[in-house]
Amino acid sequence: MTTEAGDRPVILWFRQDLRLADNPAVVHAVETGRPILPLYILDQGPATLQTGAASLWWLDKSLRALDASLRARSSLLILRRGDSEAELRRLIDETGADAVFLNRRFEPDAFARDADIAHGLQADGVACKGWNGTLLARPGSVLNGSGQPYKVFTPFHRALLAATVAPPPAPAPADIRTLPEPASDDIDAWGLHPTRPDWSHGFNWTPGEAGAEVALATFLSRGLKSYGKGRDIPAEPATSRLSPHLHFGEISPWRAVEAARSAAADGRAPAAEADKFVAEIGWREFSAHLLHAFPQMTDKAFRPEYDAMPWRDDPAALEAWKRGQTGYPVVDAGMRELWATGVMHNRVRMIVASFLIKHLLIDWREGERWFRDTLVDADLASNVQNWQWVAGSGADASPYFRIFNPVTQGQKFDADGRYVRRWVPELRGVPDRWLHAPWTAPPEVLRDARVRLGGDYPRPIVDHDAARKRALAALGTIVAAR
Ligand code: FAD
Repeated sequence: MTTEAGDRPVILWFRQDLRLADNPAVVHAVETGRPILPLYILDQGPATLQTGAASLWWLDKSLRALDASLRARSSLLILRRGDSEAELRRLIDETGADAVFLNRRFEPDAFARDADIAHGLQADGVACKGWNGTLLARPGSVLNGSGQPYKVFTPFHRALLAATVAPPPAPAPADIRTLPEPASDDIDAWGLHPTRPDWSHGFNWTPGEAGAEVALATFLSRGLKSYGKGRDIPAEPATSRLSPHLHFGEISPWRAVEAARSAAADGRAPAAEADKFVAEIGWREFSAHLLHAFPQMTDKAFRPEYDAMPWRDDPAALEAWKRGQTGYPVVDAGMRELWATGVMHNRVRMIVASFLIKHLLIDWREGERWFRDTLVDADLASNVQNWQWVAGSGADASPYFRIFNPVTQGQKFDADGRYVRRWVPELRGVPDRWLHAPWTAPPEVLRDARVRLGGDYPRPIVDHDAARKRALAALGTIVAAR
């Protein structure tokens, strides 16, 4: 393949920005007027070890969708697998490309790896240019009055909104000039979709840019109007389901924010509901900014004293939690929803995380790892930040002594039992009154409901009151040591 001087191709390196609209690297690459080489590298080296099986399921479909969009614009997605720098250099050698355009990743390892790659390529005369296409604001750009990162959400969010303005929308380009095809891997050969067994039958998702737009439109017409209340009811389809689309960059966070704001501006939803939704996007942003500023958060407690917590090593209890067999219906419903669909409702994520950390006294890192493997929206920053929030060890965290009671949480947020009955069908016949604590039901009620505790459904693996006391005692040991 040969190229004229001045018409050397630009590599457009896609990573967590798998879209063509509102994508700064795409805009800048098209503006050069030069041939573009859209590229995705499956790099499973140390900087990307975090990718779990459910996320790989999503990635498979998202890459296919991006390739189809590029093909509709006379281009295609070049797929390579291996070390990112080595694969970039190989493509540069093959095509004579002298520039790499990308949207930055901000997780600590990926950020450091990108900086190394950029220095290396630039030393060899290949320009490496990066933009922010995944967050409302670049981490490090929203600081407090002393020039330090915020550690509390509310002032962070206020400062974020004050400091940022939505960029103008950038529709997907109509056409993308490319070169005759460089070699590409066959995505089927990557084996990202599970086989033997295929556990993804319940994954009801449409990965890709078009799927993200459908999710957004559905949310604007249904959930947004009563988002503030609806978002806490796991049986209601009241939230946006945008998290995996946002994680893979199939939609820009600005697009979601601006769409909610304009729905409020033209009377389709109350302004307070749109503000609440924007605040949740703000939590995503807070998580990313925190992790960038405090990279040790991935495996160390943000408040170091919490690393002295006397965690228990209890493989049987951990396994019961993972499989949804704890005997607490709302916990089990959440863990089974996660396994079956690749997501779990936010309220239930808080309940199951609290149960693992406080009732079972198992290290939050175990839960974070399980979520990372099973969530389609697994996102290092959001996952770590939220697990540490529940553990009480994070920035602006829920106090450790606030211990969710899984029975009253179930009764409050799943009062009619729709959520539990959907995911724990063996309890379907238990009347609402006992559904969230079936061990308290009289024997004849259980008999009529055809439930044999300890057989069809487990008895609770821990007693709530005893577990609560044990958790507070454990906290006491670290407070006393301070
Ligand atoms: P919506 O309610 O529609 O919210 C809109 C968007 O705001 C979400 O798509 C998400 O991007 C963001 N958001 C909402 N809540 C939070 C939050 N608490 N923290 C950060 N961002 C938020 N979210 C992830 O995207 N990836 C994770 O790995 C992840 N792990 C979590 C682990 C635990 C223990 C907990 C308690 C929460 C976790 N969350 C995570 C946050 C939250 O549960 C999901 O973002 C939310 O359930 C996604 O559903 P949705 O898109 O319908 O949300």
